[in-house]
Amino acid sequence: MTAQLIDGLALSRDMRAQLGQRAAALTAAGRRPGLAVILVGDDPASAVYVRNKVKACEEQGLHSVLERYDATLTEAALLARVAALNADPAIHGILVQMPLPRHIDSHRVIESIATEKDVDGFSVHSAGCLMAGLPGLRPATPYGCMKLIESTGLDLRGKHAVVIGRSNTVGKPMALLLLQAHATVTVCHSATPDLALHTRAADVVVVAVGRRNTLRADMVKPGAVVVDVGMNRNDEGKLCGDVDFPAVREALGPEGWITPVPGGVGPMTITMLLVNTLQAAEART
Ligand code: NAP
Repeated sequence: MTAQLIDGLALSRDMRAQLGQRAAALTAAGRRPGLAVILVGDDPASAVYVRNKVKACEEQGLHSVLERYDATLTEAALLARVAALNADPAIHGILVQMPLPRHIDSHRVIESIATEKDVDGFSVHSAGCLMAGLPGLRPATPYGCMKLIESTGLDLRGKHAVVIGRSNTVGKPMALLLLQAHATVTVCHSATPDLALHTRAADVVVVAVGRRNTLRADMVKPGAVVVDVGMNRNDEGKLCGDVDFPAVREALGPEGWITPVPGGVGPMTITMLLVNTLQAAEART
């Protein structure tokens, strides 16, 4: 018997249906939630991500604006667009798709987004709120991972969670959210000498590295929950995660849980972006 699947598509569908109702209530009150997405350049993967985000907004009745600019857009021009959206009352959330062309300072752009519209949760203010346990907008991917873990029914209090990866957008906020849920958290990264030493003792493993087969069957404990954030291509060019999925699923046994790629973290990331946009719109009085 293999581990049970944590179905990110099904969870997303349920959550988005509820979000649609919240959006309709706000719209009826004259406050239709609005998200602006800015894409600079022609990176094909980024173009797909922003299209999916805008489509998800439209499906749930949110107002959405997609602004596409050539890769030659200057930093000053981008900052001016963000400033205009900061002042636009129809827009409650602003997302600038990363990565930006090299001549633009991403940090400066992120910091230029009004705090209350930072639906990606990447600003220093949002990161600080998470760190301090204060209310705020949480980064969508780790926030979605928390919902996926919650959906298994696991109570994280006192559990040992291992996060592999320490990026500012996934690994670090993931560790903080798990800590907030009273897990004992270990964060591993490229300088961790023996990953398996940590993961074999873990009740929950979140893998956010960007390298296939980072988590293998001999690295997990039966009954654990595994969340695979990675997005890679296998030898056939198909989307795959950071986990050796079939072997790890087998090793986790019937008491274990695992997210698939695709159909796990990806759809939840978009769903939590909508959650954040609604939260931002509801907070506006
Ligand atoms: P990132 O900024 O490149 O960070 C990768 C992390 O993995 C770093 O902290 C790095 O450690 C660590 N790492 C690299 N090699 C390692 C190894 N051999 N053992 C242990 N740790 C190792 O990537 P990211 O933005 O966090 O994204 C991670 C993955 O998630 C990517 O595949 C990305 O495409 C995917 N992703 C998916 C979604 C989604 O919605 N599904 C959203 C965001 C990201 P150091 O810090 O020491 O370098």
